Amino acid sequence: VVFSAEEAIEEAAKGRQVILVRLETSPEDIQGMAAAQGILTVRGGMTSHAAVVARGMGACCVSGAGDITIDEEAGTFTVGGKTYGREDWISLDGSTGNVYGEKISTVPAEITGDFERFMEWADARRRLKIRTNADTPRDAAQAVEFGAEGIGLVRTEHMFFDGDKIKAIREMIVAKNDDQMEAALAKLEPLQQEDFEGIYEAMKGRPVTIRYLDPPLHEFVPHTPEEIAELAAEMNMDAEELQAVVDSLHEVNPMMGHRGSRLDVSNPGIARMQTEAVIRAAININRKHPDWNVVPEIMLPLIGDLKELKYVKKMVTDTADKILAEEGVDMDYHVGTMIEVPRAALKAGELAEEAEFFSFGTNDLTQLTFGFSRDDAGKFLPEYYSAKIYENDPFARLDQTGVGELVAIAAERGRKTRPDIKLGICGEHGGDPASIEFVDGLGLNYVSCSPYRVPIARLAAAQATIKNEKK
Ligand code: PEP
Ligand code: MG
Repeated sequence: VVFSAEEAIEEAAKGRQVILVRLETSPEDIQGMAAAQGILTVRGGMTSHAAVVARGMGACCVSGAGDITIDEEAGTFTVGGKTYGREDWISLDGSTGNVYGEKISTVPAEITGDFERFMEWADARRRLKIRTNADTPRDAAQAVEFGAEGIGLVRTEHMFFDGDKIKAIREMIVAKNDDQMEAALAKLEPLQQEDFEGIYEAMKGRPVTIRYLDPPLHEFVPHTPEEIAELAAEMNMDAEELQAVVDSLHEVNPMMGHRGSRLDVSNPGIARMQTEAVIRAAININRKHPDWNVVPEIMLPLIGDLKELKYVKKMVTDTADKILAEEGVDMDYHVGTMIEVPRAALKAGELAEEAEFFSFGTNDLTQLTFGFSRDDAGKFLPEYYSAKIYENDPFARLDQTGVGELVAIAAERGRKTRPDIKLGICGEHGGDPASIEFVDGLGLNYVSCSPYRVPIARLAAAQATIKNEKK
């Protein structure tokens, strides 16, 4: 058991297996999470940071174990009258949420033998394509092993935390003028391009949808006075000046704040940098592997309006077309949008004039349709289950009659404008069998889920085809 990301990294470097126990995780913990075998958080739920990141990495995670009291400073946590510390072993079962106070042996998941044969029968019967949500070449390759046919969601922000990238993005955030901003983006671009090349290499020509920067920028800056002082020194800034920047990024409700494509409207440089990285990466990979014929799929997050989509799309197409002309390359690319704001679902007929594909971000769509936060709903939802108001977590299983109606409306209106529009789902529901059956019924083209849920999705998609054919 370890209690901080730093400890997880140190212990893992010594060859030890660790479980990171935290009140909750934040983007700064990402390297520690990658070093850990498992993650246990007191706060959270199906779509909170720890759960989403761990699921993507294939790390086991139990998020929202509210009975635990944690003392991070003392390095202990207490549950059921028993206290556990750094020298204790625990084991997690991420499917059931069980936490065991002992070491249980595990084996890696593989698809071989009879299981593999059975999965081939399922594949022969399913209509839906299965993609994966992956942000690293390692996760992408793992998903392909499990049968993924493409990537439905690369969350580019997950690439921003290592080494030089976090430094460059912080320089971008504190930039005082256009020159400083350009200089920071120029540092980021080649690093981002390298990330995309890695993903394209891992996917060997299978389709890859790259989603542009989504979270609010405060997630990339430190918050404690000590960390701010350290970063200020590194950046040759006054600590007070940096504190002022950090304060200016503070939002009362960041999930509904300055995020998604709103970041590009205020900072067009970000969309341009990401476009340059995607297009140059694809050009390089196509030169290296002409038979793969990579066609970039660029996806804009949190769009709610046609003019907004046009505005950001123009940044993308101007940049992409300029590079293609300069390089003398004739390469297709597609620009699409996520549907994750209720207004986008209602205005899907208009959005389809500009969007070549839709991907339903049902995590945000659920949050914004119900009006409760995906990070906080875990606190009160249990009472809704015991009162029989809700049967299950709407972040885990799509609410078919409410959120599902918006998905159905958007699919219908989108297709009316653009009959061949490609439709997928990349929220966590993409790995849930009941939700897969529902979206199969709507005739979506694919579901996208985290690598370790791909086998379940393949089987559920086959069952969905059979059931929906009988309806
Ligand atoms: C979503 O909102 O469903 C989605 C896939 O995006 P994210 O979880 O990164 O907000
Ligand atoms: Mg989202």
